[in-house]
Amino acid sequence: MQIRSRLAPTPSGFLHLGNGVNFLHIWLLVRQAGGVLKLRIDDLDGDRCRPEYIEDIFRQLDWLGLDWDEGPSGPDDFSRYHSQRLRMERYREVLEGLRQRARLFACTCSRKEIQRRSPDGLYPGTCRHLTHRSGASHTLRIRVEPDAVLEVASQTIDLCRELGDFVVWRRDDRPAYQLASLVDDLDDRINLIVRGEDLRISTGAQLYLAAKLGRDELARTSFIHHPLLFGPDGRKLSKSDDALSLAALRVRGETPRPVYRAVARQLAINPAEIASLADLLAALPGC
Ligand SMILES: [Zn+2]
Repeated sequence: MQIRSRLAPTPSGFLHLGNGVNFLHIWLLVRQAGGVLKLRIDDLDGDRCRPEYIEDIFRQLDWLGLDWDEGPSGPDDFSRYHSQRLRMERYREVLEGLRQRARLFACTCSRKEIQRRSPDGLYPGTCRHLTHRSGASHTLRIRVEPDAVLEVASQTIDLCRELGDFVVWRRDDRPAYQLASLVDDLDDRINLIVRGEDLRISTGAQLYLAAKLGRDELARTSFIHHPLLFGPDGRKLSKSDDALSLAALRVRGETPRPVYRAVARQLAINPAEIASLADLLAALPGC
């Protein structure tokens, strides 16, 4: 079976070293396997997505030397033909399917209210038994059943205890990340997903949704959750750390070598031997 994977950046800030390492990791696995790579930009979060961040994605992929086989060729092509905002009907259709097969409920709780009731941040189930409150702005959450224990890339996730009833449709009438990402992966026939360890619980949520929708092909998808990169202060890299952005490296006139070497370490390749993409491809252990 041909490998199909995707690079899925979110244009909510400038890409950082960790994003670059993730893209490179995926690119290497797909190119080694002779697979198909799609670029998919997740721009549903209207408040945080900005045109300069979309431009940044294309610029940094070019700087890293990465190509892709499907998806937008540039910012203009993206906004005309590939934006997730053009797929709202499709997301709504899947939401309706989900409504028929799972228990969804309207939730009016604010983030603050949830934190006040639940110190661990898990949704405390406040609105679970209420009937729909018309008029009030609300999210739609899915009821996670107590026996929702999933195997995610050889680790067990108890979805109830680690995530709880999660949001599938946002207050601003758009699909939540878990739903949109799942629908896109299914529609794009993605069978290899490579993401950071921080998204392992999201993978569990998406597998749960897929099972509810009767789409068991996601359960056959290969998932790789790689370790995250940390900044010098020991914190997870974030898009607000401009100094660690790929743009800052590029503007300083550096080559992408630090990114190549970081991915080499992640793949247990000796970084001292790596100066280019070709070196990385040659050093990859066989499949
Ligand atoms: Zn609620």
